[in-house]
Amino acid sequence: MSPVMLITGASRGIGAATARLAGQSGYAVCVNYVSNREKAEQVVRDIEENGGKALAVQANIADANDVERLFHICDLELGTLSVLVNNAGILEKQMRVEDMDASRLERVFTANVTGAFLCAREAIRRMSTKHGGSGGAIVNVSSMAALRGGPNEYVDYAASKGAIDSMTVGLAQEVAKEGIRVNAVRPGVIYTDIHASGGEPGRVDRVGLATPMGRGGTPEEVAEAILWLASDKASYSTGTFVGVSGGR
Ligand code: NAP
Repeated sequence: MSPVMLITGASRGIGAATARLAGQSGYAVCVNYVSNREKAEQVVRDIEENGGKALAVQANIADANDVERLFHICDLELGTLSVLVNNAGILEKQMRVEDMDASRLERVFTANVTGAFLCAREAIRRMSTKHGGSGGAIVNVSSMAALRGGPNEYVDYAASKGAIDSMTVGLAQEVAKEGIRVNAVRPGVIYTDIHASGGEPGRVDRVGLATPMGRGGTPEEVAEAILWLASDKASYSTGTFVGVSGGR
C-alpha cells in the first residue's frame, strides 16, 4: 500500500509541483483544487503516466463541509492518510491596509488560516495515535512574507502566514507525542500564478533580483523541501521551518 498524501491547492504552482514529486516518490496523491478542474486532472494524468496513483477532488478549503467531504473521499479512494500538505492560499490586489475592506480580509484569512486549521483538524483525527491512527506529518506552506510583513503590498496576506507560523509551532507541540510532526516551508518569491492575482504578474523577476541569489525560485525547488519534511528523513524535526527563498 502506498502512503497517502493530501495536498490542498494542487492544481497549479507549488501544490502541483509537490503532487508530481510526491507521485514520483511513491505516494498516492489526493490533488485538491477549488475551481480549476482541467489543471487538476492534468496533474493526475502526469502522475499516472509516471506509474503513480492520484485523484483530483474539488473542495473549497474555506468551507468546513467541503473539507470534511474532501478528507472522506480521500479515505475511501486512496486509504489511510499519512501526510497533509496545507498548501492552498490566496492573495489579493496589492494595496495599503487603510484601503482594505472587511470582505477582502475575510476572504484572505478564511482561505489561508481557517482552511489550514480545518484541514489540520481532519488530518489529526485520522493520524493521531490518540484517535487510533498510526501517525503522520503535516507540512504547512507559510511564506517569507510572515517575517517581512508585506508592506504596501499585502500586510493581510503576510499576517495570515504569521498565523500559519504560530499554528505550526503550537500544533507541533500539541501532537508531538501522538506520532504527528508539524513543520512548514517558507518560500520566498516563486514563479507561479499567485503574483498575477496580486496585480503584478512580473513580481518574481523584480523581487527575485534583489535576493542574494539574484533570482526567483521554482515550484519544484519548494516541492523538494516539502517532500523532505513529510518524509521519515525529517523524523526528529517538528515545529520548525525551512526557508526556500534564495538567501533572504
Ligand atoms: P497559485 O499558483 O495561485 O495556486 C493556488 C492553488 O490553490 C491552486 O491550486 C488553487 O486552485 C488553490 N486554491 C486557492 N484557493 C483555494 C481554496 N479556497 N480551496 C482549495 N484550493 C484553493 O499559488 P502558489 O503560488 O502555488 O501558492 C501555493 C502556496 O504557497 C500558497 O499558500 C501561497 O501563499 C504560498 N506561497 C507562494 C509564494 C510564491 O511566490 N508563489 C511564496 C510564498 C508562499 P484552483 O487552481 O482551482 O484555483
